Amino acid sequence: MPFPSRFKHCPNCGAAVDYRVPPDDNRERAVCPGCGAIHYQNPLNVVGTLPVWEADGRVLLCRRAIEPRHGLWTLPAGFMELGETTAGGALRETQEEAGADVEMGPLYTLLNVVRVGQVHLFYRARLRSTAFDPGPESLEARLFHEAEIPWDEIAFKTTRETLHRFFDDRRRGQGFGPHEIDIA
Ligand code: ZN
Repeated sequence: MPFPSRFKHCPNCGAAVDYRVPPDDNRERAVCPGCGAIHYQNPLNVVGTLPVWEADGRVLLCRRAIEPRHGLWTLPAGFMELGETTAGGALRETQEEAGADVEMGPLYTLLNVVRVGQVHLFYRARLRSTAFDPGPESLEARLFHEAEIPWDEIAFKTTRETLHRFFDDRRRGQGFGPHEIDIA
């Protein structure tokens, strides 16, 4: 499912677009034969957190109540909105999906998901409480020790990779990231 966000119809006039290289350009764009508009599409940012309850080292995961990957576990994350910063969006997603009260920490992973045209950014976050209030996008939110992580039921590679790096960093005891990772 390459580039699922590629649109088929012109947002201006509704005509079916052609994908071709416009004059003075060097790559395919969505060109509208109806109104002549050229629509440039660029990668989207997904922002989230890696929330940790420092008293015992458990991490917070949410079980998805929506497609894709309904019923699987993920770190709280979602599409960045216009008008917010990456950290602001990560905090908002954490509040919306888990109802978690966190103190934001530094950027931890930056993951290029070239195949679907996305960049995912996860921030470390310190939980202030273990009371959660999952929103409509989550079936539940709960804490996991490393040995309890349901590795076969993790929704996204970017979550799995971020968790692996975190537990590795913690074992080494030499600080945390940031890590720049290309998802194949
Ligand atoms: Zn058009």
